[in-house]
Amino acid sequence: MSTVRLLLSCLLFKLVIALSGNFWHITDLHWDPSYKLTDNPELVCASSGRRPAANAGKFGDYACDSPWLLINSSVYAMKEILPDPDFIVWTGDDTPHVPNEDLGEEKVVNIISNLTHIINQVFPNTKVYSALGNHDYHPKSQLPAGPNYIYERTAEMWQDWLDPESQKTFKKGGFYTEKLLNRAGFRMLVLNTNLYYDQNKLTRNTIDPAGQFIWMDRVLTQAAIDKEKVYIIGHVPPGFFEKKRGKPWFMPEFNSLYLHLIQKHHSVILGQFFGHHHTDSFRMFYSSEGSPIGTMFLSPGVTPWKTTLPGVVDGANNPGIRLFEYDTQTLLVKDVVTYYMNLTYANAVQGLWEKEYRLTESFRVADASPASMHQALQRIATDRCYLQKYYEFNSVSYDLSECDRGCRADHVCAAREVDFDRYERCLEREGAAAVYGGMLPLLSVAASLLLANR
Ligand SMILES: [Zn+2]
Ligand SMILES: [Zn+2]
Repeated sequence: MSTVRLLLSCLLFKLVIALSGNFWHITDLHWDPSYKLTDNPELVCASSGRRPAANAGKFGDYACDSPWLLINSSVYAMKEILPDPDFIVWTGDDTPHVPNEDLGEEKVVNIISNLTHIINQVFPNTKVYSALGNHDYHPKSQLPAGPNYIYERTAEMWQDWLDPESQKTFKKGGFYTEKLLNRAGFRMLVLNTNLYYDQNKLTRNTIDPAGQFIWMDRVLTQAAIDKEKVYIIGHVPPGFFEKKRGKPWFMPEFNSLYLHLIQKHHSVILGQFFGHHHTDSFRMFYSSEGSPIGTMFLSPGVTPWKTTLPGVVDGANNPGIRLFEYDTQTLLVKDVVTYYMNLTYANAVQGLWEKEYRLTESFRVADASPASMHQALQRIATDRCYLQKYYEFNSVSYDLSECDRGCRADHVCAAREVDFDRYERCLEREGAAAVYGGMLPLLSVAASLLLANR
């Protein structure tokens, strides 16, 4: 190769590197300060609710929320794998799954403070964009649509991460927006979607709690005028839980409004990053003509806690953390790399964080754009090998059982349809009708038996 060509290819390589950036996404750390190793498996942690923590070790147990060592290990794993990310996205849920009586405002604030402290300590010079989860309040999920003690205290704790205007809107409604890394043309929108959670009694009969939808519409309209590209982060996602048929999180009217705003402003929204599920999944957004216009990435949680949601069988996961690679000029999401700790191995041998998978490799797609994610979803929907792979990643390689036809319908329809009616129709097309409430387990077993006999 001639010197000129070598120089040119080196320059090109440097340019490609310069256009590529990284950020971490961590979510659902759920620290359980009561976690301790003891002979009585029912007393290992308060978050097990007396379910036996049969394999408790120093890094945790699948029946429990995270011991401090697991939290510590996850944050230091980020530092070791990629010490200097462009920024960090942290989407909430810091406290353990325990009855309200076992917590209180001060305990909740104290837990948020401890987690804030460790992230700040390990990444002192990294910008963190942080959203509240439904567990970052007392009583849990009852986040108000106006100023209160916890928003106030949290805004103070996060003052290094929030500019003065963000402090103001955060104290009022728990949301904010800023230029992404202070760069012209790029914006971050941090939402408090806990206001739309159907468990939140305070916002249930309101039209636009804290005026967040109107604010979001205004910010995105202005972003289009200013030719900005936007990322949106939040905790509770719209759409359905892929592990429980017919289980949405948002109140129906809030779900429609959120979807409407994404469809209206999709040309400026380059990615949505949410948590709350503890599982690894994604949600597609389509135009009215059916073309893919957006993707919401649901990142796995750090807590391995097995959900107590009725109808979910063996809903635990291995602890996961996630690295996004993106184009710094366009904000296109280029790739997603998930790292995880096999909790059983960690407790038996050593606390090891390793790569679980890289999206473009595992699903043979060019990048993580909406078109590529649509392609990945088509593969998952039509090819058993891809479905099984996706299913194992969904629990961060905890549940390695086979994803059958009913399971496929649940996962594919949840990923494909955020809209309530369209989700229902998707299930019907897949031969699996949505069933709400307590009838679910029996009927879905019956349905899958029927399908299996065909
Ligand atoms: Zn959570
Ligand atoms: Zn949550």
